[in-house]
Amino acid sequence: PRYTADDTRYAQMQYRRCGNSGLKLSAVSLGYWQNFGTYDQYETARAVTRRAFDLGITVFDLANNYGPPAGSAEETFGRLMKEDMHPYRDEMVITTKAGYTMWPGPYGDFGSRKYLLASLDQSLKRMGLDYVDIFYHHRMDPETPLEETMGALAHAVKSGKALYAGISNYSPEKAREASALLKEMGVPCLICQSRYSMLDRKVERDGLFTALSDCGMGATAFSPLAQGLLTGKYNNGIPQDSRAAGASISLNKDRVTPEALEKVVALGKLAARRGQTTAQFALSWVLHQPVMTSVLIGASRVSQLEENIGALNNLDFSEEEIREIDDILD
Ligand code: NDP
Repeated sequence: PRYTADDTRYAQMQYRRCGNSGLKLSAVSLGYWQNFGTYDQYETARAVTRRAFDLGITVFDLANNYGPPAGSAEETFGRLMKEDMHPYRDEMVITTKAGYTMWPGPYGDFGSRKYLLASLDQSLKRMGLDYVDIFYHHRMDPETPLEETMGALAHAVKSGKALYAGISNYSPEKAREASALLKEMGVPCLICQSRYSMLDRKVERDGLFTALSDCGMGATAFSPLAQGLLTGKYNNGIPQDSRAAGASISLNKDRVTPEALEKVVALGKLAARRGQTTAQFALSWVLHQPVMTSVLIGASRVSQLEENIGALNNLDFSEEEIREIDDILD
């Protein structure tokens, strides 16, 4: 049946300004890294996408290599745009990235102008779009001069194929440099995407958040649930239909350690006291960082999305709660 978006979709969601820019992002973004490839169920991908938009999510996060196989998440997204979402294009922030291995040879990886601009054209074709809202450099490239990589992002924006430029997995030092270079080119760096969760606080502590604030950039956190660990779903073993039980190379049984689970169980008790599930608690904690514009979740089914959005109902933490959380995590 044809999709018509829910009239009440903007009632509950929060929209946060991304750094010093004019762009606001939904406090929760939906990611297409897993669950949207060729080997996944199209009808599930469709239901999750529709529900996300109905719940006020406006940010849809892709990359050239998402699938599997690489490219197929963008193809799925293209089909979703064509069948359901095209009337709403101007209500959506659609992102893509290039930086990881995408095609064979020297021009399908890292950070050259040659790779980035060719990849963006491929992404637009797969998604059936004229432009993306944010084009990210996906990871730092130790060999290509940063000026060349940022020049490619600036060119993407000036040519109208992207509206904003972003970086991902950048160190604080390189984020500052990237921001300065882009500013010189007349294209501000909008946002930095990094891994951040209660189980991985590296970017909170290495100076990245300060760097982003100083540069007027926003932040978005990926794997905020540590790929599912922070939902409590692994507390009593590995469910058959979970990411850790499946073919995913990013999360496997060895990563579900007793030390991590011990923390998750303790966090779950604090969550319950606040009337939250463990997943909601973990997401609201990420969002309570002032620099954080949006938390970037994955979902393999609609019920997860609905549960996770519930995090927005309780975003405030007392100093006491923050202390208790730090005690558990450190
Ligand atoms: P999460 O930490 O949110 O993990 C999502 C997974 O956890 C789901 O697919 C599901 O897996 C499980 N889950 C989520 N909610 C629940 C729930 N309420 N109850 C039980 N299980 C739940 O994020 P991801 O690691 O998926 O990353 C999110 C997005 O971030 C990606 O899609 C991508 O857009 C971006 N990203 C960016 C990277 C970068 O380098 N820039 C790297 C990685 C991700 P299941 O049901 O299968 O167990």
